[in-house]
Amino acid sequence: MTNVPAAVVPPAAVPAAGLRGCECPECGVVAYPQAAGCPRCGHATVPRALSREGVLWTWTVQRFAPKSPPYQPPAGGFRPFAVGYVELSDGVRVAAVIDVDDLESVRIGMPLRLVEGPGVPRFSADGGARS
Ligand SMILES: [Zn+2]
Repeated sequence: MTNVPAAVVPPAAVPAAGLRGCECPECGVVAYPQAAGCPRCGHATVPRALSREGVLWTWTVQRFAPKSPPYQPPAGGFRPFAVGYVELSDGVRVAAVIDVDDLESVRIGMPLRLVEGPGVPRFSADGGARS
């Protein structure tokens, strides 16, 4: 777990579409999503770019289509997909869609990378490089 204050992260290293969280300068807690107050001690937080890498903490399968809108089914219609919590190397857990071709391949602890793009956070084994 790193504890680099946002102030020393060079602007060029902050991803345009990466996840933005916050860090408490008082107690060191890193949180997502970004909030004005620390969830542990209430101190004012500072913005922070979160790691793009983590491991699957837990997961399940979404077997029915979410309410639409806002959900937009893909071309070809709804197919069950994995959702879970990814524990980033920052130590924060993020609820996300787990992007895999085969639901049977999903394992707790599998390494994951953030997939670039709009909408809900998505992670895959290769960060979306295969598509
Ligand atoms: Zn705090």
